[in-house]
This record gives sequence, structure tokens and C-alpha cells, in this order.
Amino acid sequence: MDIEICTLSGYNDVGRNMTAVRVGNEVVILDMGVSIQAISTYEKEEGSTKLLSANELMNIKAIPDDRKIEDWKPLVKAIVLGHGHYDHVAAVQFLAGKYKCPIIGSAYTLEVLKSILRDDDIKLPNKFTSVERDEVIKISENIKIELISMSHSTLQCAMVAVHTPKGLILYANDFKFDNDPVLGDKPNFKRLNEIGKDGNLLALIVECINGLVEGKTPSEKVARELVKNVLLEIDAKDKAIFVTTFASNIARIKSIIEFGKKLKRKIVILGRSMSKFNEAAENLKLVQFSRDAEIIGYGGARRRKLKEIDQNRGKYLVITTGSQGEPGSVLDKIVTKQLPFIFREGDFVLFSCRTIPVPSNIINRANLENMLKLHKVKIFTDLHASGHASKEDIREFFNMVKPKNIIPSQGNSEMENSVAKLAEELGYKLGNNIHLVTDGQRLKF
Ligand SMILES: [Zn+2]
Repeated sequence: MDIEICTLSGYNDVGRNMTAVRVGNEVVILDMGVSIQAISTYEKEEGSTKLLSANELMNIKAIPDDRKIEDWKPLVKAIVLGHGHYDHVAAVQFLAGKYKCPIIGSAYTLEVLKSILRDDDIKLPNKFTSVERDEVIKISENIKIELISMSHSTLQCAMVAVHTPKGLILYANDFKFDNDPVLGDKPNFKRLNEIGKDGNLLALIVECINGLVEGKTPSEKVARELVKNVLLEIDAKDKAIFVTTFASNIARIKSIIEFGKKLKRKIVILGRSMSKFNEAAENLKLVQFSRDAEIIGYGGARRRKLKEIDQNRGKYLVITTGSQGEPGSVLDKIVTKQLPFIFREGDFVLFSCRTIPVPSNIINRANLENMLKLHKVKIFTDLHASGHASKEDIREFFNMVKPKNIIPSQGNSEMENSVAKLAEELGYKLGNNIHLVTDGQRLKF
């Protein structure tokens, strides 16, 4: 029985992740994500991905081009989602319907997906199968799936292990090694060590976003301290405080709410994607933010609330979208006067994030900061810890799971080359057992 991996998407650059693994005459698809950058160029409102047809979206490189596995289409037995970030799940609505198979993921990942589908009014024929992490699920005689608990930057994340008769394929896209994640799971190191001991890991697909970053990625606990340090020490009497972060980072939002309460401010969470990720977490009782915060997506309620905040700016703390300066986000709409709030001198905007290093984000973020500076807003940046493994984490990971083959993914060529070099330091050989690939290639094992 031969094993073949098709690196459909996410191997040329960050985002838009999708990989297919063929085991004999059966196929499992791992992730179906969008390119947030490409898609945000075409949407009027952040978090709304219903715009163009699937083919049009493929052509603008907003979603993976799965026409490259047309011949595998009848063979697909499952679509498995590792975690609920848009660049891993938000293309499901465009692509999954043509595969006659279930969509498998953790409860939170599927809940996020359902909220995306609900919001865009899309019904898929696929069955949704929520699975416990760290349990082995049988897909067929020859394929089993295991979602291995992992820390990252949203809830219920997993590395996906595909068990085949020839060994394991491990999909580590995305992860960080965080033993103090503030909310949610620690990495299942016990299982990763077992995989290494078994010596049965045929191929490892590994994310490279932080492949150029030396050292180890700091814990979410560190980001929490950075936010605390600013929020509890600024003198913000009668001034507005806006904090922006990734809508999916529920642990971070939890920290911001806690410190906002200490300031005795009313907490308001604003933005369409903010309400989606939070609603999914509340539905599963993973958090109860609505006890402490008012959560408003979009529309008239959002306008009314912003007007009220504008008049009573010292009473509120706003958690909102716009961390990347993305068009359509709440902060973008405020500075471009599409929403009724005007920043004044001495107001505060805290960026609890980093700018994801793609050109459009860098430009959008710089534009947003410039606009805020025109209003003489006090800006704090990088109150953040990344959700992605840095070089030394990746080295530790390789040593732990001992893959026979390494396939760098989720990065541009510079990032992926850096991880390949790291593997070479450990004795792997480029072209032999390190596979630097581009989107749409097939690798046979
Ligand atoms: Zn992610």
C-alpha cells in the first residue's frame, strides 16, 4: 500500500491551509482554510466570507485550489480540522459540499465552523462529527485519526495524527509549546514522546510561521502580564480604552476582561468575528463572558453602543477587531468615520497582537496607527505572545517525535528554508528526508 501526500495549499505562504493524505485508495483531507489577506480585500465587513464563487475565490488565491485532487474526489473519507482559525476552517463552506464524507474536529472547532455557516446562511450536506481529543477514531480498516491536544492561540487545538499501515502522518499546523496557556489545554507531551519512542512517524508536516524566530515562544501567561502591566498602570481617567486582539484568542480576551473589571469599567466586546468566536465558546460553556461583558456583533446595536461610549468614554473598556488594521474591522471603520465614535487626544488603543508578517497587513496596520496618531491617541503595541512555535520549540519537537520525513508548511520560502536548515543540523538531508515543496505537489512514500 502506498502513501501519498498532496500539499494542496499553505506551502507557498502563510495561511489558506489544506493537505490531502492518500492511503491506498482512501483519502483524508486535513484543514480547509482561507487566506485572510486575500479574502479581506473583497469583503465589506470583517468575518463575512460569503462573497464570490468557489472558483473565483480559488483564482484570487483566497481559498485552496482543490481541483488538483479531482482524481481523488471519490476516495475522500473524512475532512479533519485541527483547530478553528479561519486559515484552517473558513474554506469548508466553499469546498466541503462536493466531498461525500464527514467533517471531523474538536467540539469547539466545529462550533466555530457552525457559527461561520450560520452567519453566512450556508447549509452543508456533510455530517459533523465532534471527537474527543487524544482518542483514536477509526475511519476505515486502514485509516485511524487521532487529535492530539495542543496549545496554540484558540481553544481545543490539536495536532492531527493519521494512522496508516505504513506508519503515522503527523500534521502539526499550528502549535506552540505552552505549559501555562491561561485557558485550555497544555500540549500532550506524553503522547508526542510515545510517538518518538515508537519510531513509527513516517512524515511530519510542520508549521514554519516562526521558523525565523530564534529561541522559544513565550507562554500566554507572559502576554497576560504585558496586558496587565499596561492596563493597570495607565492613568486613563475620562479617556477611552480600546484593546484589540485576535477574535479567536479566547484566553487573551479572558485576561483583558479580568483587568477591565479591576478598572471598574464596563466591558464591551465589539465586532462580527469577536462575537462568533465568543458565542462558540459560550455555547460549549468554555467561558461565560456575557456575564461580565456586553457582546455586540454588528449593525444598529453596535452604532448605538459606540455613540454611548463616545459620550461616556471613561466608563468603558472596549475589546474589538482591527489588530491587523484590516479593512472592515471596527477600528478601521472608526478611523475612517464609518462608525460613530471619534478618538480624542489622550485616548488609549492597546494592540494585544503582532502584525502577521504579510505585506497587506503591514501596510494596513501602519495606516491605522497613523490615523490614530492624527487624533493624538496613545498607542501600545505588541502586548502579545505568539501562538506559533519558534526555532528551539521546533528543534525540541523534532527530537521528541523523531520523524522519518519532514515537510515544512505554513510559511514563505524563507521561513520554510530556515526550518529545513534546522532539520539539517539534526542530520536530515534536503531532498532525501526533508521535503521543501510548493502548493499542489504530490509526495509518495
Ligand atoms: Zn492557527
